[in-house]
Amino acid sequence: MLYDRMNRSIGYLRLSITQACQLRCIYCRPALHQNHTDGMLTPAEFGQIAHHFILHHGVQKIRITGGDPTARGDLPEIIGTIATGHSDIDLAMSTNGLALGRLAATCKASGLKRVNISMDTLDESTFERLSGRRGVGQVIAGIDAAIAANLAPVKLNMVVMRGINDGQLASMVDFAAQRNITLRFIELMPMGPLAPNWHQHYAPAASIRRSLEPLTLSWRPLEQGAESSRNFRVVLRDGREVSLGFITPMSCNFCGNCNRLRISCTGDIFPCLMNRPRGTLLPALRPKYDPLRFDALLAEALAAKEAEHPHDGFAVMTSIGG
Ligand code: SAM
Repeated sequence: MLYDRMNRSIGYLRLSITQACQLRCIYCRPALHQNHTDGMLTPAEFGQIAHHFILHHGVQKIRITGGDPTARGDLPEIIGTIATGHSDIDLAMSTNGLALGRLAATCKASGLKRVNISMDTLDESTFERLSGRRGVGQVIAGIDAAIAANLAPVKLNMVVMRGINDGQLASMVDFAAQRNITLRFIELMPMGPLAPNWHQHYAPAASIRRSLEPLTLSWRPLEQGAESSRNFRVVLRDGREVSLGFITPMSCNFCGNCNRLRISCTGDIFPCLMNRPRGTLLPALRPKYDPLRFDALLAEALAAKEAEHPHDGFAVMTSIGG
């Protein structure tokens, strides 16, 4: 196991495989953010990183993220190199869902276990306002393809923004209940183009839950485990049940239990989501894999892992993938 200087064990690796994304979400991606394709890690290098963490440090949970992972044409190959020989690990992916209609079955066949799909609205004009393009139908097709491919449990992540999509909580809950999938509400973080107006749009989990009360009869807390989300099995007033969760980076941060380490698509090491990278793994990967160097670079980065994330972020989400 790997430990940081606060003695938190690192059991969860997040690999951002690209900065490219089909969307330009106002809370995420700076308008002028460029995609850097120079020096991007290859599928073999991602495989090497994953194998190192699994074999040398007992990591059992890996998430592929971005940008949007589906923006990389070699995604199935990346999944395959990570999964090969490690069918027991929890290999998950975060995506906007736009390309899953086409890719879900291939990703599953390559070794992906499950997906989280970001979806903030079912309303096409809100989707366009938030992301710069239309796409609700395509994301729904992606969600249904993920369910059909058994990339389970399929989870939806909705960033809730006051005055933008907070009127659409009921339709999102209904959608999740219809498909029997989990819906998690994420508190808006002050990152990306919406950061200057963050206070205006921030909705804490407590207020989101209050808005949901008229729809619900009961909330049964589910075991939290190592998840960053607090989950509930909820009985709706119409008798249906649904699993809902809250991810609360702002109102109740979970840094004390942080078990994550993030690697960017160019090999930068981000010990904290909202802070600057603390080194790069490249010298341990090129010209060839050097496990001792790898561990020295990791130790240096982990020594700089903060006790808590700062409240105004340095990082660009599209570089490190949430
Ligand atoms: N493109 C993939 C996706 O859509 O899931 C992976 C990367 S995206 C940066 C990861 C997650 O971060 C998404 O659920 C997104 O909604 C969330 N996110 C981005 N900016 C955020 C912000 N300012 N506050 C809260 N969540 C944010």
